[in-house]
Amino acid sequence: MDPTQTEMPRKTCFLIGHPTGHSLSPTIHQAAYGALDMNWHYALMDVLEPDLDAVLAGIDGERIVGANVTIPHKQAVYERVDELSDTARAVGAVNTVYRRDGRLVGDNTDVAGFLGPLRAMGRDWSMARAVVLGAGGAARAVAHGLTRELGLAEVVVTARREAAARAIPDICAAPWEERVGVCAEADLIVNTTPVGMAPMEAASPLPDDFVFDAKQTVYDLIYAPETTRLMAAAQAAGASVIGGLPMLIGQAAAAFRIWTGRDMPLEAVNRALRQRMATGGSS
Ligand code: NAP
Repeated sequence: MDPTQTEMPRKTCFLIGHPTGHSLSPTIHQAAYGALDMNWHYALMDVLEPDLDAVLAGIDGERIVGANVTIPHKQAVYERVDELSDTARAVGAVNTVYRRDGRLVGDNTDVAGFLGPLRAMGRDWSMARAVVLGAGGAARAVAHGLTRELGLAEVVVTARREAAARAIPDICAAPWEERVGVCAEADLIVNTTPVGMAPMEAASPLPDDFVFDAKQTVYDLIYAPETTRLMAAAQAAGASVIGGLPMLIGQAAAAFRIWTGRDMPLEAVNRALRQRMATGGSS
């Protein structure tokens, strides 16, 4: 977005966060623009909260089409948009912004991104019991998707700060110390804690002697490493496992559709991501 550039990209989207340096979003979106021969550009905007208003005002819906929002601004942007989608309102966080009829709209595509792999399994989840480990921003999106979109009858959230779990609507909260017992009873275990990613790659949110059932599905939101210690243990016991990469791509694809009206070319995106991760892009 350098005004001295002579050949300005026709349209720009960007990521608002702090820090943003290691984000995979530019790789995902640029690969999609390239594959579809679109003269668009995806930029990184490392922004501190006092500058958020100015950055959001720059989204004109014409040349600057929209933005993704990541840590730590998902709640702050939620407070600043003119309109919220039903999903963003229910989750209490915004990860995608765009302009509609002059008004700034905040949406949350993390929910669609999270649900994609579960829907792709083609099973009826409504009778399933799920346990969500962690009660931060991602857990709120996960819990909303499980209870409101997939209609699960029983979702237990267990977190170090039980008050944070209790603040999530439509779930049962359980103490962190009881996570082994509740996970043993679950059909679906979702890790939304950072335990398993750098600098905790060697750790798992469940103890090493936890006995997985082959009928269980274990979904770890962490995408680097692609297979966490939790996933490896579940896989070894014959359980189904899902990593965080499909969710990352799914939330990007949903934002891409909002901004461009087009489907993201997933094959090209997957290829670019694999290349980037193989050469050291980690988060
Ligand atoms: P967050 O708001 O900081 O929440 C993290 C949660 O994990 C909190 O409940 C926190 O508890 C808990 N936690 C942190 N360290 C822990 C530890 N050592 N032991 C037990 N619990 C711990 O973060 P978030 O935005 O929800 O993101 C969480 C994870 O999801 C990250 O790994 C992120 O990369 C991943 N994520 C992936 C995607 C994707 O597209 N794949 C999307 C969003 C997030 P306290 O409150 O006690 O600290």
